[in-house]
Amino acid sequence: MGSRNREFHVFLFPYMAHGHIVPILDMAKLFAAQGVRTTIVTTPLNASTFSKATQSSEINSGNVKVEIKTIKFPSVEAGLPDGCEYLNSLPSPELSTNFLKATSLLQEPLEQLLLDENPSFLLADICFPWATDAAAKFDIPRLVFHGTSFFASAASYNMSKYEPFKNSSSDLEPFVIPNFPGEITMTRAQVPAFDKENIENDLTRLLKRAKESEQTSYGIVVNSFYELEPVYADYYRNVLGRKAWHIGPVSLCNRSNEEKALRGKASSINEHDCLKWLDSKEPNSVVYVCFGSMAKFNASQLKEIAMGLQASGQDFIWVVRRGQDDDMEKEDWLPEGFEHRMAGKGLIIRGWAPQLLILDHRAVGGFVTHCGWNSTLEGIAAGLPMVTWPVSAEQFYNEKLVTQVLKIGVGVGAQKWVSVVGDFVKKKAVDKAVRRIMVGEEAKQMRSRAWELAEQAKRAIEKGGSSHSDLNALIQELKSRG
Ligand code: UDP
Repeated sequence: MGSRNREFHVFLFPYMAHGHIVPILDMAKLFAAQGVRTTIVTTPLNASTFSKATQSSEINSGNVKVEIKTIKFPSVEAGLPDGCEYLNSLPSPELSTNFLKATSLLQEPLEQLLLDENPSFLLADICFPWATDAAAKFDIPRLVFHGTSFFASAASYNMSKYEPFKNSSSDLEPFVIPNFPGEITMTRAQVPAFDKENIENDLTRLLKRAKESEQTSYGIVVNSFYELEPVYADYYRNVLGRKAWHIGPVSLCNRSNEEKALRGKASSINEHDCLKWLDSKEPNSVVYVCFGSMAKFNASQLKEIAMGLQASGQDFIWVVRRGQDDDMEKEDWLPEGFEHRMAGKGLIIRGWAPQLLILDHRAVGGFVTHCGWNSTLEGIAAGLPMVTWPVSAEQFYNEKLVTQVLKIGVGVGAQKWVSVVGDFVKKKAVDKAVRRIMVGEEAKQMRSRAWELAEQAKRAIEKGGSSHSDLNALIQELKSRG
């Protein structure tokens, strides 16, 4: 293997969840735009998400071509319903172990594909720790995509290494993350379960292997830009010793409205109607409220959000997702007459929103976010102050970056890391936080700092910018490997 004459060819292999699919799709376009032959490996149902978007980008730029190769997703073999091919289509959380099993069964078909196609390198999601060994069998370097910031990766590493929460007298007593730049404070209740608990199960074993695979892989590709978090990028590389390339914000590769609208799932609202609604609003007058693809709030929390938004007096777009589609139809989560009262002032999107299109509209002036890294970075790239409302995963770390380091957001007051449903937040807190990012001197200052970061983000991905240069450095290094 490792023939010197083979065509330089990148394989990208995303995890089957939208927070992973969306940035990998953007990354694929970035590699392809550098003239690199680029293939996304995915499963048949997920392929349709990619193919719509990649066909569109071909049309838009003429020379950007992304190929797609599929491998069968072993739903039935792993005890999942047929057609259950991405994480948020699981009928119940208990099936997540089966989902993990299904993804581990992908090793064999991936290896067959690597043997057949012999790509120059494999950029595989961190949730496939076994991909390093699979690639090594064919002398193919494996890079990791971990999906978050330098800040969160390094904070998570130090948290589980030094376990500062063990010395706290209560769940809510603040402590400083040890040996970490910037005196960053958080509480035991906010520390992710995977950094805090020593429970042995399939998930924790996978996460442990995933962290190890960061160190045994060829290197890590980070969706961030140097100017956003220079201290933490340096810390990650120089102190933690990780070999990493920053190539983001990858979402900025989507320039046309069509491309922006085609990321992820099909929108639950007609994009033109959505844009028309926004066009009718003053600049910076609308707050956009969305909690990503995984969080699912219960009816009482949704009601509280509705009342908080109404009390804030701000115009809003609010994206609502609930457990199952039929739960949405019940409408028990809306205060009576809410939509009627909010007609013209608030737009509710039930399901999937064209987020990038909305964030980039000049009428949008603030973002209430769960701090998933993609959403956080998309908010930064759009120059928006944020209300941070972390739920689970590594979202509390991202919140600290936004509020304590960048100072472009205010916390809504979520105190506890709670998988999927999140900590309960009252309407008063929603109202207050939304006003703080939308009106007054504090909002103005946060917006101006966010705007400066957005400008730096745009420069980073242009020719000669830090992310553009790092992407090219990565390609050159791998090409020179032969
Ligand atoms: N997203 C979207 N419309 C939605 C919800 C999410 O386009 O209604 C996109 C969003 O722009 C982001 C991704 O889905 O790129 C969600 O990733 P993130 O890391 O923010 O959160 P996760 O879904 O992984 O919790």
